[in-house]
Amino acid sequence: MSYAIVNGKLVDRSEALVDIEDRGYQFGDGVYEVIRVYNGRMYTETDHLDRLARSTGSIDIQLPYTKEQLSAMLEELIKVNKLQQGIVYLQVTRGVAPRNHAYPTTDVTAALTAYTKEMQRPLEILKTGVKTILTEDIRWLRCDIKSLNLLGNSMAKQKAAEKGCYEAIQHRGQDVTEGSSSNVFIVKDGTVITHESNNLILKGITKDVILQLCEQHKIPVLEQTFTIDELAAADEVFLASTTSEVMPIIAIDGKTVGDGHPGAVTKKIQELFTREIEKQCGEL
Ligand code: PMP
Repeated sequence: MSYAIVNGKLVDRSEALVDIEDRGYQFGDGVYEVIRVYNGRMYTETDHLDRLARSTGSIDIQLPYTKEQLSAMLEELIKVNKLQQGIVYLQVTRGVAPRNHAYPTTDVTAALTAYTKEMQRPLEILKTGVKTILTEDIRWLRCDIKSLNLLGNSMAKQKAAEKGCYEAIQHRGQDVTEGSSSNVFIVKDGTVITHESNNLILKGITKDVILQLCEQHKIPVLEQTFTIDELAAADEVFLASTTSEVMPIIAIDGKTVGDGHPGAVTKKIQELFTREIEKQCGEL
């Protein structure tokens, strides 16, 4: 039996149901987090809970639990589900109210749901790398909020899936923003470059870990916008996310990146990232 959390309580996963007038369901009026679990332990949990608080704060949703309470709930969920390798999905919506675009004026308690899912590390493709496509970024201008409104992201990922590709790299005009569910990095002449964390992308937790690792290990790194031409001329390209970790990109729109194999800087960052996980969660 698998459990989920609905409004602070552990329930049987099959009984975890929400109201049809939940604003998350009707308006996408809510936010979420995906936290990686290795060896039964959450990786970078605090960063995820901090980002959740930033996301709810930026759309005026009152989190009905403290970070300590959330943390305790998630730990309990992982324990009862006996999760070793996988993810915790955590979602907070504005709550249930009669349908109206404007926020409810009465006191409505935010609705919290969470569940776990088993997932192994994608070891095979971490070694070989993945293929991608390029697509115009058609999303709104607050991509820094980890909102439930993922239709733009889903449409981009679907285009990639139809081409047999792992990810869609999005661009606004000439500028590369991010993947449909990942941040994108290029390596040029030994320097790692990724889009600055502003309103046009999600400030990835994995991205921030990578930036810190580069600084600690004297790998030159820049947080600045790069163009689709710079992407095409890059020596190496990789993407980063909670579930994909540091994933080499070996082709974009059918064109090979570098020599078609994961590059040296990417492999070095993968190694540093794996060591970082092991520091927090034990041997992989
Ligand atoms: N950008 C987008 C649009 C995403 O959905 C994700 C995955 N959550 C990321 C970047 C990477 O963020 P993180 O490293 O926190 O998983």
